[in-house]
Amino acid sequence: EDSNLFAALRSAFPQDRTRCAVETDTGLHYSWQDLDQASAMVANLLASLELPVGSRLVAQVEKSVEAMVLYLATLRAGLVYVPLNTAYQSAEMDYFISNAQPAVVVCSTVNFGWISKLAFVSGTQYVFTLNDDRTGSLLDRAAGHSAVHTPVLRAPRDLAAIIYTSGTTGRSKGAMLTHGNLLSNARTLQAYWDWQAPGHGRADGGDVLIHALPIFHVHGLFVAIHGALLNGSKMIWLGKFDPKVVLSKLPQATVFMGVPTLYTRLLAEPGLTRQLASGMRLFISGSAPMLVDTFEAWEQRTGHQVLERYGMSETAMLTSNPCKAADGPRRGGTVGPALPGVELRVVDDKGQAVAMGEVGNIQVRGSSVFQGYWQMPEKTAEEFAADGFFKTGDVGCIDADGYVTIVGRSKDLIISGGYNVYPAEVEGFINALPGVLESAVIGVPDADFGEVGVAVLVPETGETIDGVAILRQLKATLANFKVPKRCYVVPELPRNAMGKVQKNLLRAQYLNP
Ligand code: ATP
Ligand code: MG
Repeated sequence: EDSNLFAALRSAFPQDRTRCAVETDTGLHYSWQDLDQASAMVANLLASLELPVGSRLVAQVEKSVEAMVLYLATLRAGLVYVPLNTAYQSAEMDYFISNAQPAVVVCSTVNFGWISKLAFVSGTQYVFTLNDDRTGSLLDRAAGHSAVHTPVLRAPRDLAAIIYTSGTTGRSKGAMLTHGNLLSNARTLQAYWDWQAPGHGRADGGDVLIHALPIFHVHGLFVAIHGALLNGSKMIWLGKFDPKVVLSKLPQATVFMGVPTLYTRLLAEPGLTRQLASGMRLFISGSAPMLVDTFEAWEQRTGHQVLERYGMSETAMLTSNPCKAADGPRRGGTVGPALPGVELRVVDDKGQAVAMGEVGNIQVRGSSVFQGYWQMPEKTAEEFAADGFFKTGDVGCIDADGYVTIVGRSKDLIISGGYNVYPAEVEGFINALPGVLESAVIGVPDADFGEVGVAVLVPETGETIDGVAILRQLKATLANFKVPKRCYVVPELPRNAMGKVQKNLLRAQYLNP
């Protein structure tokens, strides 16, 4: 049986292919037929290169509909798609290209000189260019190819993509995801999030997605794009996130996906009102923890409870707060229960299940869990338990209703004087103090305690905060071993493209008093 992910997505395209599939913030309209034909032409170009099965295509390109078409064409042609963050410079590109060993690299014209040099040195055969204004050699070359193409037969276990992890805890690893992994997760989310099939557009009940995320990670590339395509839903495509543009599109949309920082930036817009959001069905957040404050402020301002979900490059989505009331309430500060088909357990450092409600290491098993890290067999073996559960590296707990709360990452755990300190717990107390917007607690080496906590916090706008006073208040509330030894007040926390706090940078910066 054919399990090509592209073929599955295409079979969900609406019967009337002349309808609008994607509308961009630059005023372009793409029909379903346009997506089909454009991806066929690029797939035919890729097929003409006669590459061996399993060849990788690395894409470091600005966000554009054509970049999405390139992704679809890669699936269609049976090659393996490897998207890279557009922020990566020469040192990073050197690592990723020599690690992925791609047969094809696609980059922006401005980067062609240095990227093609790197690529050819590590054995890449073809380097094409693609820009966000529909120029570049990829489309020039594809223009000479037929707009008809039969998707290459793929088995569920065949690789579809390698997604490099964000590199939050160390060097990025390439997570190998198959057609089967991605399709099963997309189908699960389609049902659980209750995607509304067209009719079309808001007027007749179909969902319309505002796509405002980058497309080099799981969130924007898989959760968002697969969600819309598998449901035949239109996307309103924003080249980059701009809060004012998102607000202007809300009245034409029903679904929005963002990382927590996008929600805080939208809340800073006075134009965000209940009225403006009244036609929206679903606001989804993930990639990083959403503060309960943000969850509550959003509900107050818009009347909507943000649906928070949890996942990672290695597994796609694992848990989600409910969408339908029948599945339960949405609980801010939690990431909801395990999705249907996902087994999730919390274990101690010896791999034994902990009591309900106790904090421990999160492990998962299910059809969306990846095949391993690209070219890292030892690391892969280390990260799977004997019975096939994947060790996520996240630390959390499950309550009696099955709701999961993430309290941090095992790598961020601080062991101070022999005691475990969970940064997220301490951050929660700091965030609750008056005048504090958010905080990060990190561990730094210490001669006496092995490690000690250091707090870095951001005050609410217009507030001034005294770090010493914060530490004094914490001492009155928390066991002494949990109280950070130093506290710094900063205007903002360093975050990567997906809104994740870069604790590695903080650890380096605050190493010494
Ligand atoms: P690396 O693995 O290279 O250190 P990374 O784990 O940040 O980087 P990703 O795979 O992009 O790379 O991110 C997945 C991680 O993001 C999860 O393991 C989890 O720590 C975090 N995450 C995702 N969604 C949520 C959420 N809703 N709440 C808390 N954390 C989340
Ligand atoms: Mg990770």
